[in-house]
Amino acid sequence: MTIIIYNTIFLVILGYFWKKYSTPTYYLVSSIFALVALDLILLDKHLGFSVLLIFLFLIPFIPKDIPFRADPEKVPINSQNEYQVDFRHFVVNYLDILKQIEPFVGILVYERKFTYYKIEKIYPIEKFQFCKNEIPLSAPIFSALQQFESHINLTTAENIVSQLAELNHSTPLQTKIYTHKDYLILLFSEKTASTDLILKINQFLQFFEYIKNHFISKGYNDALLELSKSLNNAITKTDLYAHFLRIVKQYIHFDVAFISGTKDGGQTIEKVYSDDRNFISLEGYSVTENNSLINLSIENRCHLPSNTKFNWEKNYLFGEKKWFTNFHSATVFPIMEHGKAVGTISLLSKEEGEYNENAIRVLMGMTNMLEISLLNAKAYQKMEEMATTDGLTGLINHRTFQERFIQYLQRAERFKRKVTIVLTDIDHFKLVNDSYGHPMGDEVLRKVASLLKKDVRSVDLVARYGGEEFVLILEDIDKEGVFTLTNRIREDIKKLEFVSNGVLFKITISMGFSMFPTSSRDKQSLIDFADKALYYSKKHGRDQVNCIEDIKEGG
Ligand code: GH3
Ligand code: MG
Ligand code: MG
Repeated sequence: MTIIIYNTIFLVILGYFWKKYSTPTYYLVSSIFALVALDLILLDKHLGFSVLLIFLFLIPFIPKDIPFRADPEKVPINSQNEYQVDFRHFVVNYLDILKQIEPFVGILVYERKFTYYKIEKIYPIEKFQFCKNEIPLSAPIFSALQQFESHINLTTAENIVSQLAELNHSTPLQTKIYTHKDYLILLFSEKTASTDLILKINQFLQFFEYIKNHFISKGYNDALLELSKSLNNAITKTDLYAHFLRIVKQYIHFDVAFISGTKDGGQTIEKVYSDDRNFISLEGYSVTENNSLINLSIENRCHLPSNTKFNWEKNYLFGEKKWFTNFHSATVFPIMEHGKAVGTISLLSKEEGEYNENAIRVLMGMTNMLEISLLNAKAYQKMEEMATTDGLTGLINHRTFQERFIQYLQRAERFKRKVTIVLTDIDHFKLVNDSYGHPMGDEVLRKVASLLKKDVRSVDLVARYGGEEFVLILEDIDKEGVFTLTNRIREDIKKLEFVSNGVLFKITISMGFSMFPTSSRDKQSLIDFADKALYYSKKHGRDQVNCIEDIKEGG
């Protein structure tokens, strides 16, 4: 009995030291020694004191900072570890997505281990390569971390950073720390992280913790991993929604799902996932009802209904109530973008009480991941557009015109269709620049571009060929038709009025065209012929259209 009491007292005293030191190894080694010594004192004073003396003598030699050096890649696979490895990949995947939205200089993700946090992941690798392995936190930092279990102040962060910087001989960067019980995220950036990013990280940590505590089953981890991976890979919005709902469906039941997006200031049903054809036909429906769950969710920026009890008498999704009488559960989630609700996800089930608190939490986390991926997809789309369109006029650029022209010709060959290529060039455009300035010249180019776009049919293509030259590809139209269309364009351009410093001026345009297959079947020859016809128009007084075939015949 006395032994037990003594042992307990001793462990408590040691616990105090344990708090001061950051490694479990130190605690373990010292407590074994001390306990053995103490117990021996009780049995045999002489033997006990000699062991205690040896122990005191050995104290300075006990390594205080033995780091926990388990290489995550080499962790033996048993069910518990497998689960942890999966989660690590999940976090890493998520941060990969995050990184693309806001380029932080570095991120350290720590996982809490026993008495200290272990570095789990480092972004980007270049800058913090030196701490690829786990480093134990020093005593002051560790105690500070404990003090700020849920909120870590910046001084602590700065301590950590200066510690790291010392190792790296670099100047500390701006940092922010986020913690959530088991995880600690240290964010390094050259500028302050946006509130949006901070929100996303916090939401993610909450979601992550919840999932960790509630869904330890292997299958769920796999699904999350798959979700984060596939969201990372999907690049179009439709792709993303499809991936998202496919994974959601594995864990949360729904019979119908609606996705709405912002259009003309209101919500429009963009996508319906259902086996019922009647619901599919609702794609394109404008949700105008102000008190519908969809619009209320947008307005309040929160999921609805707020309680788990669902009642169609009080709530309705959109449209007519009778459409949804077979459903007994529903939930609507807003899709956020930079703090604004830009769309919704609605799930409906025929079962009652389907979307309980647990389901809502999971959905919240998953939606959070979706939001980030949507931002990502948008950035990607913008990049694509920048690569294919001309910045000044918004028209397709020269390179894309060349690619598209090949496609038009292949299609014409296969379906025995005609294709016309029209080259245009503004007359005396240099004079416009010289007389009214380059910005005015740009304005003229923009106006001409939008007029061309308006005058051709949707099957046709307009591209900026070069400086003040545009090219049209017209499909399935005969020579007379081309003349009618191009002359109309020519007349419309003559009607455009430009004013510079109170001076009104107008412009004219010259055009030349060739046709597949009558002028040539070869892409380059067709372009050369159109150019030749354009040159003919310039030489014969400008403000006119000519076809290469007439020139050949007429000389
Ligand atoms: P022509 O009737 O023979 O076509 O006479 P032109 O003055 O139009 O002659 P040319 O086609 O050789 O002149 C093209 C001019 O277009 C030269 C260049 O300064 C101007 N230009 C090319 N790209 C741009 C642009 O993006 N913005 C502006 N403002 N001017 C441009
Ligand atoms: Mg020119
Ligand atoms: Mg010109």
